[in-house]
Amino acid sequence: MTLIEAGGIGLQATAASWAWTNATAHNPKPYFDLRAASMAEWPRLAAAVPDLTYVESGTLYADNDRFDTEAFIANHTAWGYDLRPVSLEQAQQYEPAVRNLVGPLALSDSEGAVDASAAAVALATQARKAGAMVFTGIPVDAVSVDGTGRVDGVIMNEAPIKADEVIVAAGAETPRIVEPLGVALPMNAPRGVLATTKPLPRLIDRNILLPGLHVRQKADGALLAGASFGGEAADLAPEQIAQDLVARMRTSLTGAEGAELDHFSVGYRPTPADGFPVIGRPSKIAGLYIATMHSGVTLAPIVARFVADEILDDRRDPLLAPFGADRFQD
Ligand SMILES: Cc1cc2nc3c(=O)[nH]c(=O)nc-3n(C[C@H](O)[C@H](O)[C@H](O)COP(=O)(O)OP(=O)(O)OC[C@H]3O[C@@H](n4cnc5c(N)ncnc54)[C@H](O)[C@@H]3O)c2cc1C
Repeated sequence: MTLIEAGGIGLQATAASWAWTNATAHNPKPYFDLRAASMAEWPRLAAAVPDLTYVESGTLYADNDRFDTEAFIANHTAWGYDLRPVSLEQAQQYEPAVRNLVGPLALSDSEGAVDASAAAVALATQARKAGAMVFTGIPVDAVSVDGTGRVDGVIMNEAPIKADEVIVAAGAETPRIVEPLGVALPMNAPRGVLATTKPLPRLIDRNILLPGLHVRQKADGALLAGASFGGEAADLAPEQIAQDLVARMRTSLTGAEGAELDHFSVGYRPTPADGFPVIGRPSKIAGLYIATMHSGVTLAPIVARFVADEILDDRRDPLLAPFGADRFQD
């Protein structure tokens, strides 16, 4: 296996991610099933790979402006998901620093969060130890095709690298690589700004979802927060969004009154046009596999396993059925 990364491992969307592992919201059943299966893989992966930080911290849902909480709990528990109603008193016991909670509230114990960049680095390190070649700082210029029209490798630095199969997992750049091969992949890349504070004493244990603010506390004590899961208006300056997030953290969390912005990130969520991942071989051209997705942190472990199964053993997991690469082709 050869891994070719244009920049550094774990940058781009992965470095700018809130990195919450969950299977709620934006949720047709097949998408739920894939994400729920992947959540179950995270503890296994974290146990198997050194330096991979995954915390099954749980989530307090208090962002009831987004949905009808009771219906939301009922839908997900009917699918076997770990989500339950909690009273204001219970929520205050679980997360005493969170202010101004307004019910109804829900809690999941099995959701978590990942240090996504560190996880990508840890996985690339493991791959290298297992014999993979890892190139960083060199972009793939193009995918190459042999005389029969089959993909046979990539061009990198004007040099051909031959391959039995090429997996394009280039996030929001994926269309630029596959469209010259005649493979359509309409992509949106909504912007997401996250603010990171300077470290604070431990205030919260879980992912906390409030109206207009989602916040979690990283291992070093820094609060990591965003405002919207769908992308913010493009005319808002990232610096302003970040300062607003810090202001909201100060008023929403007891103990964060003196929170200071350490830095902010601007990321673009690689999101295929219908909002769901594209995982599979386009039937238009042999030798090409696409793996690009939203919810890429949640989905990473299961998708990695399923892609390996399909490429090595020609076994496509039924959970991938709705997410094939042919759905945008003419
Ligand atoms: C603000 C924000 C919040 C998010 N929150 C969550 C969340 O809470 N939970 C969740 O599950 N997901 C979340 N996501 C989504 C998740 O982070 C992404 O789905 C995931 O990181 C995508 O990973 P990726 O490797 O596919 O893409 P990327 O991380 O963008 O990586 C693509 C890589 O391809 C490389 N590349 C591009 N072109 C080439 C080329 N020509 N040659 C070689 N390499 C190339 C790039 O350099 C880059 O490193 C969030 C994303 C954002 C931006």
